[in-house]
Amino acid sequence: MIAGLDEFGSKLLREADILLPGLFNYAKTGVYVIQDNRFVFVNRYLADLFGYTQQELCAGFGPVDLTHPPQQAMAQREIDRRLSGEIKASFYACRGVCKDGHLIDVEVYGVTTQFEGRPAIIGILLDVTERCAAEREIADQLGFIRQLMDTIPSPLFFKDEAGRYLGCNTAFENYIGIARADLIGRSVFDIAPPDLADKYHAADRELFDYPGTQTYEAAVTYADGTRRDVVFNKATFTKADGSLGGLVGVILDISERKQMERAIWHEANYDALTGLANRRRFKVRLNEEIAGAEQASQNLALLFIDLDRFKEVNDTLGHDIGDLLLIEAGRRICRTLGNNEHIARLGGDEFVAILPTPDDRESAPMAAQQLIRALDSPFELNGHLVYVSASIGIAYYPDDTRSGETLLSYADQAMYAAKSMGRNCFQRFTPSLQQRARQRLALSNDLRRALGEGQFEVYYQPIVELGSRRIVKAEALIRWHHPQRGMVSPAEFIPIAEDIGVIGEIGQHVFEQATTMALRWNTPGMGQPSPEESLQISINISPRQFVTGKCGDWIAYLRERGLPSAMLSAEITEGLLLDERPAVVDTLLAFRDAGIQVSIDDFGTGYSAMSYLKKFDIDYLKIDRSFVRDLTTDPGDLAIAEAMIVMAHKLGIRVIAEGVETEAQCALLLEAGCDYAQGFLFSPPVPAASFERLLDQNRVTRA
Ligand code: C2E
Ligand code: MG
Ligand code: MG
Repeated sequence: MIAGLDEFGSKLLREADILLPGLFNYAKTGVYVIQDNRFVFVNRYLADLFGYTQQELCAGFGPVDLTHPPQQAMAQREIDRRLSGEIKASFYACRGVCKDGHLIDVEVYGVTTQFEGRPAIIGILLDVTERCAAEREIADQLGFIRQLMDTIPSPLFFKDEAGRYLGCNTAFENYIGIARADLIGRSVFDIAPPDLADKYHAADRELFDYPGTQTYEAAVTYADGTRRDVVFNKATFTKADGSLGGLVGVILDISERKQMERAIWHEANYDALTGLANRRRFKVRLNEEIAGAEQASQNLALLFIDLDRFKEVNDTLGHDIGDLLLIEAGRRICRTLGNNEHIARLGGDEFVAILPTPDDRESAPMAAQQLIRALDSPFELNGHLVYVSASIGIAYYPDDTRSGETLLSYADQAMYAAKSMGRNCFQRFTPSLQQRARQRLALSNDLRRALGEGQFEVYYQPIVELGSRRIVKAEALIRWHHPQRGMVSPAEFIPIAEDIGVIGEIGQHVFEQATTMALRWNTPGMGQPSPEESLQISINISPRQFVTGKCGDWIAYLRERGLPSAMLSAEITEGLLLDERPAVVDTLLAFRDAGIQVSIDDFGTGYSAMSYLKKFDIDYLKIDRSFVRDLTTDPGDLAIAEAMIVMAHKLGIRVIAEGVETEAQCALLLEAGCDYAQGFLFSPPVPAASFERLLDQNRVTRA
């Protein structure tokens, strides 16, 4: 013992009766002495704390009386253990009840001693109400936070700076399949497979090295086995002293968004109809393939496949059948070539395929030939038997070009060449094709301006009655006087006009010109074959014009101007009769009702639908030039022409032979009973003024 303190201790004892009452009464701590469960002494602070006087408390109160009833048993036990000598010193905390009933928090310390020869407890009592209130508030807040966390459906977790879990919410428990209590204190290495744990640990380390926030996407597997796309959002937190405390993370489920993104991507990259890659996806694929071929020093062939007569099927049988045709054609292409990933539909009836490593120059032509064969056999579509064929263009990487885009355009040009070679064949790209493609493009640009600049002129070709050779009809045939290229054939520009959508305007122009001339030539003395019979002008109408509906207005136009409709007739192709769309059917029936006669042009070259000839009250068949050409040399053609004439007459339809160039042909046709003829033998198509002279001669001859 320290000498000084020892000396102070004995001094204190000597002066105790003076010092202790002062100490007890002014100390900011409760002091008490208990005997027989009753206070025998309490200091003023303790009495004040509970709202009593010292005298009141020492007149029969015991510590248990000041204890909150639910804790009274516990307090009594503590006191008993001390008084019985089981323990010498003890401490307990409880809630005290003041005289006015309000509760305070206290800590009670006591030691067992002897007082006046009997066991007693002397102790002190501390008021900890404020501290406890603060603690309770913190506990409340923690409870609140935990509840809040548990209501959040996204997994949430905390880790300390060593990567050990500090806590998590219920959603996180469900995600990893481990209860919160088992998780706390463990690291990711204890709960995840090693490769994943390494990844997460590395991400945590990076975040701790550069405190702040961190976000990354991942695909995770929940404890129940479901795979989800999620985004991890993590942030570091600091302790009160400013040092790094750890990290808090939340895992957001973005599976729906991801799925939508994937769906959007698929929609943006694949053709909904055939399921094949679309143009956009194909371009990416092509560039990848080219990069791969470049690295491996290999060749590629690009096949550009276009269905022949698809437009005709679409225009005549309707878009639903057209769609079915595209789907089936896509299937046949895939079946033939095998690798679907290398096949795409660029739009319309255009398909492309990449053939990797055709190291021998035979494989691409062979594949093209197989494709042509595959697409040549009939398609059975919803009860319709449809025949198409394919024209295929081939271009090679790197022989023709090293650029994907150019390769595509070269294969496209080669395909066009195949088409103009008569379709149903393939063609390899050559530089001269490019020249032609440029011309076609230039032509389509010029075509848009041609009408406005008055470059079109309508020519007329006489149609004669075979027996008398009188001019009774004429066909209006358009001519384009191109400012640089001179006369461009309608066979060249009409398909382009159909493609770029100006055929309607051109057709309208021909119609208006032809009606004006029909009126002029039918005024008495101008060319009418006879007073009872009008000179009839026929105009060619593309299937497109029916679909866009323009020619439906023609009847009203004729009526408004008082033109007899017998002066006009319409030349349509066979396929149009099969078109079931209202725009087509209604216009054809309206023509019939209005008395506009209808001819089937180029008969024998397209779909032959005999029953439809009757349904629409067709007036004339025009035997195609190809049958007339070899009449004198090919008995087969003669037989076909004769059969057509007989059949037509049986149906009450009259026959016009096209492309009659010789007297021999004329004689055979006359013998076969053909009604009318048109061809260079009588006159080529000529401008209106020249045609008028022909009419004059016609009149003079007759007279
Ligand atoms: P198409 O309707 O079959 O017209 C007959 C074509 O045969 C005309 O060709 C005509 O010049 C030609 N031709 C007439 N007689 C003979 C002959 O004895 N021998 C030979 N070798 N050919 C003869 P063109 O004028 O070049 O017209 C070609 C095609 O262009 C027409 O065939 C028609 O389908 C289309 N076309 C012409 N004008 C128009 C038009 O205004 N609108 C539409 N939609 N198409 C038109
Ligand atoms: Mg015609
Ligand atoms: Mg024709």
